Amino acid sequence: MRFDIFSLFPEVFTPYINTSILQRARANGIIAINIYNIRDWTTDKHHTTDDTPFGGGGGMVMKPEPIFAAVEGIADGKPDCPVILMTPQGRPLTHVIAEQFSRQERLMILCGRYEGVDERVREHLVSDEISIGDYVLSGGELPALVLVEAVTRLLPGALGDPDGAFDDSFANGLLEYPQYTRPPEFRGWNVPEELVSGNHPAIARWRRQQSLLRTLQKRPDLLEMAELNQADIQYLVKIAEEHAFCLPEAIRKRLDIP
Ligand code: SAM
Repeated sequence: MRFDIFSLFPEVFTPYINTSILQRARANGIIAINIYNIRDWTTDKHHTTDDTPFGGGGGMVMKPEPIFAAVEGIADGKPDCPVILMTPQGRPLTHVIAEQFSRQERLMILCGRYEGVDERVREHLVSDEISIGDYVLSGGELPALVLVEAVTRLLPGALGDPDGAFDDSFANGLLEYPQYTRPPEFRGWNVPEELVSGNHPAIARWRRQQSLLRTLQKRPDLLEMAELNQADIQYLVKIAEEHAFCLPEAIRKRLDIP
């Protein structure tokens, strides 16, 4: 899969894409990441990429000409892949969206700065807008890296352990179960018996139930869409009663709780 990233601060990307999973995925030919400096497509002697906003007000706005020239230059015309603008006004990034992007062969990603990009970029060049959360950062570089890594982790062979992403939170609609490692006892705190029992069905059952419990406690909204079997529902009904959880109406209906 190929990522083309357009930014005014391309140096931000170098250390991160040369580290860990992104580095390994690049070395193994699973992904290619090309970083382009939008400034290289300016035509004036000062290499101007921003200007003051029409109508007044503070801050600067990224000019449309170098952005169009950069994207269309690299795409060799009108891009035939998604062109994603990183913006706090976009669709909040989720596992499902990352999975959809992971089926593409190529993604173009635009990083804004200052007050953002001229609206004509959004209207006539961009095909999708993605946010990494309801807060504002100074640039789209960190959001672009977040998107690239979230997508790359879902590509076959990108993680060392092939099951790595399978059990992660959100992959099956639930939060992941708690994880422990050696030592089995630390400061008097013991690892749950099931995990050191060597009994694989008991471990699988414990993990599933912990996933359900965690999701119910921390993100009950996820239960509305998660795939649940009869045993899951019985367990949720039982723990909701035991802990006197007040479940949202939609979930009570789904779990058949009066
Ligand atoms: N004035 C813009 C607004 O209020 O919507 C915010 C501009 S922000 C200071 C500069 C750039 O950072 C944006 O163009 C975008 O590329 C990036 N950015 C900031 N926060 C982001 C977020 N939560 N998700 C994705 N990109 C973000």
